[in-house]
Amino acid sequence: MDSESQFRNNALKGIAYYSYAARIFAYLIGLAVVITVLGVSDDGYHKIPIAMPFLFIVCLAWPHIAYQWAKRSNVTTKVVTSSLLFDAFFTGLWVPLMSFELIPSTVFITAVMMNNISTGGLKLFLHGFIAMILAIILSSLLINPSFQFESNILVILVCIPMITIYPMVLATINYKLTRLLIFQKGKLLQLSRNDSLTGVFSRRYWEQRLLGEFNRCKRSGEKTCVMMVDIDNFKNINDTYGHLVGDNVLRQLGSILQGLRNSDIAGRYGGEEFAILLPNSDLEESLLVAERLRQKIEHTKFEKVDRCTISIGIAPLSAQFSNAYKWLDQADKALYQAKANGRNRVCSELSQIED
Ligand code: GH3
Ligand code: MG
Ligand code: MG
Repeated sequence: MDSESQFRNNALKGIAYYSYAARIFAYLIGLAVVITVLGVSDDGYHKIPIAMPFLFIVCLAWPHIAYQWAKRSNVTTKVVTSSLLFDAFFTGLWVPLMSFELIPSTVFITAVMMNNISTGGLKLFLHGFIAMILAIILSSLLINPSFQFESNILVILVCIPMITIYPMVLATINYKLTRLLIFQKGKLLQLSRNDSLTGVFSRRYWEQRLLGEFNRCKRSGEKTCVMMVDIDNFKNINDTYGHLVGDNVLRQLGSILQGLRNSDIAGRYGGEEFAILLPNSDLEESLLVAERLRQKIEHTKFEKVDRCTISIGIAPLSAQFSNAYKWLDQADKALYQAKANGRNRVCSELSQIED
């Protein structure tokens, strides 16, 4: 499952989870209302004997069935929307049973439709509406209902929790869901932007930032540098200590790069190669940042590895570069120079700081 559908699935599981208590509440009130309507009418329970057991089974069991169904299913979208259609269908069945009494019927139809719209928009509203109409027709054919639009005061009293509490429950669910979605969206964004091993930006996102900074600084004339960082003889580290130790070195280096200045933009460019944008920094300042970084790595105690060093190539932005990749290429050339000059050093096109 890709992260986008995983995200959608989690949101729907959230709907199923938060709707559980709300559904139990709504069906219990629904049961109480129908019982009251039938209780206060003269021939209520006797007219439709099979209705009562059916009503009890649905109202007491269905919320749990719907919850378990969504929890266990992999196709949560289908289950959540189907459950809401069942809700609409059951509500439609009760309407003729309540002799089409206006107040309880309207309250329940509105509650179901509110639910459908908040989960599936207009489409689910329409589907729910059709399911409800079909259920009203079916139920009318089965029980030959009477029509009584006015309600007894008892019926109205039992409807009050549904009118007052249920919208608040629904609003709370929506609030919780919004928070869940914001949280998940943040996680998704981080997953798509950051390299999973080192925590710095992924190459794809870093390149977007490179293009953005290139254009911005060219326009404004801001002094900016880009640097390429490569671990020296990393293959030896892998060969000597194994890939897992190599991965740990990358992880540790990643967290050191994340601890650079706030404005610096670090990304993993390749296996053991990192690229860093240094906005608002001229070459002199960037050379100092790079040298500090080089020394820090040299003195860092990496797990199991005695010594690990890096080479750095720096290029300041200048008018000569017609595009961002030519600028980056300049930094790459400086890095090559640092390697050629003996590694564990910082090089730029103009200057070189010896170890
Ligand atoms: P140089 O000083 O010239 O950069 O030498 P080097 O050994 O660092 O460079 P080389 O390009 O020969 O080797 C890079 C190694 O990095 C080879 C590859 O197996 C390793 N590598 C790339 N990605 C990963 C990774 O994610 N984890 C680990 N453990 N190793 C990686
Ligand atoms: Mg290397
Ligand atoms: Mg390399």
